[in-house]
Formats: sequence, C-alpha cells, structure tokens
Amino acid sequence: MVQSEVDFAAAIRTIPDYPSPGIMFRDITTLLAEPQVFRAAVDALVEPYKDSGVALVAGIEARGFILGGALSHQLSAGFVPIRKKGKLPHETIRVAYSLEYGVDEMEMHRDAVKPGTRVLLTDDLIATGGTAEAAVKLLRELGAEIIGACFVIDLPELGGRRRLEAMGVSVQTLVAFEGH
Ligand code: AMP
Repeated sequence: MVQSEVDFAAAIRTIPDYPSPGIMFRDITTLLAEPQVFRAAVDALVEPYKDSGVALVAGIEARGFILGGALSHQLSAGFVPIRKKGKLPHETIRVAYSLEYGVDEMEMHRDAVKPGTRVLLTDDLIATGGTAEAAVKLLRELGAEIIGACFVIDLPELGGRRRLEAMGVSVQTLVAFEGH
C-alpha cells in the first residue's frame, strides 16, 4: 500500500446494497470532488512510478478514465482507453471476462500500443481482479510491457491483487476495505 498523510478512506462514500444486495459500493465521486484529496491521491498513485519511464497510462472504462487522465498528465505520459465493446471507432482487439452474473467484453484499438511500450494500468478499484486481468491480456496481446497496475481501492478478500501478481504484474493501492 502506498503511504500518505491523507485519509483517503474517509473521502470515499459507501453505499450498501448497490447495485445489488450484499454489495458495499465504494463511491469515489466524493473523493474526486475534494480538491486536496484528489490531488493527494494522484500524487500518491504516481509516486512509485515517477522514475519508471512510463510512456502510456491505460485506464479502464469508466472511472479508470478519470484517474488515468490525471496520472498520465502527472507522468507526462500518453493515455489509452480500455472500453466496453462497441465504443471504439477504429479496428479493435477484444477480450471476454467474467462478471458476477455472466460475461462481458472489453476492447482496445489494435494500434493503441506499440510493442515494447511501457504501460501503467489503472482503475478505481480492484475486487476479484477479473476486469484488470482482462485488461492485462489485451495490453500484452499488443506487446505492452506492463510496469504495474494501480488502484485507489483494494478489496483484499476478493483476491484481485494476488491474481494480478500471479500474472507478473505488481499492484499499488491507496486504501483497503474489508468485504465485498
Ligand atoms: P473486479 O473485476 O471484480 O476486480 O471488479 C472491478 C471493477 O468493478 C472495477 O471497474 C470497479 O469499478 C467495479 N467494482 C467492483 N466491486 C465494486 C465495489 N464494491 N464498489 C465499487 N466498484 C466496484
């Protein structure tokens, strides 16, 4: 976990039973709306990668776009979106991944990453890691060198961090919450 003086957990709103019973939805819109906390979160997330030569930040739709835009600016890197299927206008590559109920697919532009490019992956939260794992597969299919993956929130009981680490991807997070 990245260390910071700021209490990020206090700035995150929890909505019980959303979008379905038993889920504690961790809502980062409250954190994003607090100028100093958003600034501190971006600073803390980029800290481990400042000297890593990150050329591109890849953000997962949709909250990963907000963070990814800020991280890429801070790192003087480019940004590439990883989107739900059917949203990208040019030629794409696609991967299927499991959700709690059923499967979905995500896409990247086939020319979004040149082989060997140093990429940092980001999203707001890692739970089971299924979404991030699919993103790693897409990036690797394009030949990306994944420098790491960073998230504001970790739900450690769901094992996402271990799943990414088992793929050889190091993970940084700012806050951990118990449960789902
Ligand atoms: P997973 O694929 O299980 O790691 O789920 C991660 C994705 O689902 C991220 O894009 C999150 O935004 C979203 N997500 C999963 N669980 C939660 C939760 N408890 N609160 C907010 N977002 C969640």
